[in-house]
Amino acid sequence: MTDPHVAMFPGSFDPPTLGHINIIERSLRLYDKLYVVVADNIAKKCLFTADERVDVLKDIFHDSRNIEIVAYNGLMVNFAKENNVGVMIRGVRAVGDFGYEFELAMTNKQMMNDLEVLFMPTDPNYFMLRSSQIKEMAAFGADVSSLVPRQVVELLRKKTDLK
Ligand code: ADP
Repeated sequence: MTDPHVAMFPGSFDPPTLGHINIIERSLRLYDKLYVVVADNIAKKCLFTADERVDVLKDIFHDSRNIEIVAYNGLMVNFAKENNVGVMIRGVRAVGDFGYEFELAMTNKQMMNDLEVLFMPTDPNYFMLRSSQIKEMAAFGADVSSLVPRQVVELLRKKTDLK
């Protein structure tokens, strides 16, 4: 049996934005425990390593008790099964996100019937915000400090300095 008080929020988080942080903070108020699961998927080319993405999220949420931030290489339903997770949270920004998220939810439900997928609409401040846009802006030296946590600004700076 899965635990309906335990939720997971999976994603690439490449890098985490204030949109992700907002969904995490709201989920933390709803569930006893929240796993933030960083997809460690070699098929998807990411700017940051899974360790970098996990570490920056751990730094951002170092004060929260009921959160666990982990990297996972595999199907998210398998993570849910292994950890008795009852709820998968997905953020939706606009109607455009919904078609993709709905199909994904159908697939996940087929693979794991006792996992509930719940959609959380974004905060209106963040409905235009996506990680790919942050990477593009940072690559051209634009200021992203109002769109991501300060820890991510530092991480982006380190990455772009290395190039
Ligand atoms: P994925 O590769 O799984 O799409 P992302 O890191 O892009 O991973 O997103 C993870 C989750 O966060 C998804 O449910 C996505 O819809 C949600 N999300 C991303 N950006 C925002 C935002 N600005 N507001 C709300 N939810 C968001």
